[in-house]
Amino acid sequence: MIFSTGEQFELLDPALGSPFATVQLSTSADVDAAVATAVRVAPQWRRFDWPERAAILRRTAATIRADVDRIAEVLTQEQGKTLKEARIEVERCAETFDYYADDRFAPRTEQREVHGKAAWVTPLPLGVVAAIVPWNFPLTLLANKLVPALAAGNTVIVKPAQTTPLATRILLDHLADEGLPEGVVNTVLGEAPVGQALVSHPDVAMISFTGSTAVGRAIMAGAAGRVKRLALELGGSDALIVDADADVAQAAKSAAVGRFFNCGQACIAVKRVFVHENVYDEFLDVLAARVDKLTIGDGRNPGIFVGPQHTDAQRQHTLGLIDDAVAKGSRVVRGGKVPADPELAAGFFVEPTVLADVPADAAILSDECFGPALAVVRVASFDEAIERANASEFGLGSSIWSRDPAHIRRAVEELQAGYTWVNDMSTDYETLPFGGMKQSGFGKERGAEGIEEYRFLKSVVGKEGQEVF
Ligand code: NAP
Ligand code: MG
Repeated sequence: MIFSTGEQFELLDPALGSPFATVQLSTSADVDAAVATAVRVAPQWRRFDWPERAAILRRTAATIRADVDRIAEVLTQEQGKTLKEARIEVERCAETFDYYADDRFAPRTEQREVHGKAAWVTPLPLGVVAAIVPWNFPLTLLANKLVPALAAGNTVIVKPAQTTPLATRILLDHLADEGLPEGVVNTVLGEAPVGQALVSHPDVAMISFTGSTAVGRAIMAGAAGRVKRLALELGGSDALIVDADADVAQAAKSAAVGRFFNCGQACIAVKRVFVHENVYDEFLDVLAARVDKLTIGDGRNPGIFVGPQHTDAQRQHTLGLIDDAVAKGSRVVRGGKVPADPELAAGFFVEPTVLADVPADAAILSDECFGPALAVVRVASFDEAIERANASEFGLGSSIWSRDPAHIRRAVEELQAGYTWVNDMSTDYETLPFGGMKQSGFGKERGAEGIEEYRFLKSVVGKEGQEVF
């Protein structure tokens, strides 16, 4: 159910810079009503038979896939990503519905040995879970929370970013059409005040949040009063290391794709590159040649790789980081500004940008750059590369390109991040736990680990012979 009785909010098409729809935001009374509904429906959903729960998820996956064209179009219009990337996002979202519908995720009570007693450990849902999601991957980031939370038997309050509510709405309509009882999933919309009303609400048991580190801190503080369970997927500034003996062409390819997909707006985008001095010039040449081939434009047009940034504010942040890096002595290898093409003037575009010789005090190395600008740094040794890669408050992903087994082992052990890609593209996988360390947050999404975040384990003990399960 949608709980929105507040002000109207205008959505802008990022490629055109012009409004295309209005949505209604929620009030704190809407948050209360949404949570009350989720509380009321919680016992019904908790007792819902697993096979039927799983069947709803599986049918929803099929319905999403059958509707990929329409959902992708809506996602491109509200978010700005290319149609090709939007379709990939829709498909991945469907995969998550299938993944957690598997019978190995059915709740299972385990019998345990306690001398002279009957004893069990049984998984229970937490109750009402709030899923707060950003705008960069509205569907997959929601599915990573919503699907395991539902599979585990929780009711859910979804809060999409207010700038990307529309594809989410279609997704939730499909869930309802495939048999999810009314009130199991409820939606509210609005920025900080609505989010904080959810976070501090006494009847919300857990906050599962993906977004910036700054808001993550505010959520931790807001949840502290009632000691709520949290899962925080926060910002990232992933490093990619290019060792002296690396396959430079492949490393440059993975840096280009890893930096510029989704217009650089990904938590696990490659944001900082540390290149050994022996291969530094070669790496920059190959990277520049790759960037020259990146087509920029409206994501609805075929053949476009880099779309607009999601909002003008995001674009200004990226341009500010570029200007700061240049003022401090970085060399602009490619891009660095807004494109000159008059057809792109109204949209929120930034040229795909490569900055070389970026000095240690440039803000682009310490802040998260959530746009199409890559910082490249020359290092004199592998040790220096590891040290510089770890000199960040973030710890989400990391990559090592090397042929030296000892260096690869050290990178895996020493890089402070939840993922390390070894001579491979930086992308995340359905079956592997995803989540950061340091100020990138805590908790795991995806994989078998992802559903455990949404379960509470209760120990049950009775006299010998007592029957419960
Ligand atoms: P954001 O400002 O933190 O917003 C994320 C969500 O929180 C949105 O729904 C937002 O609503 C809401 N929100 C804003 N202030 C809030 C508050 N005080 N209390 C509760 N909710 C609040 O994030 P963003 O800048 O839009 O998104 C990009 C960030 O997400 C980047 O830092 C990126 O690295 C991170 N991210 C992390 C992962 C990961 O898995 N680790 C994945 C993707 C993105 P409104 O948008 O409506 O204001
Ligand atoms: Mg924000």
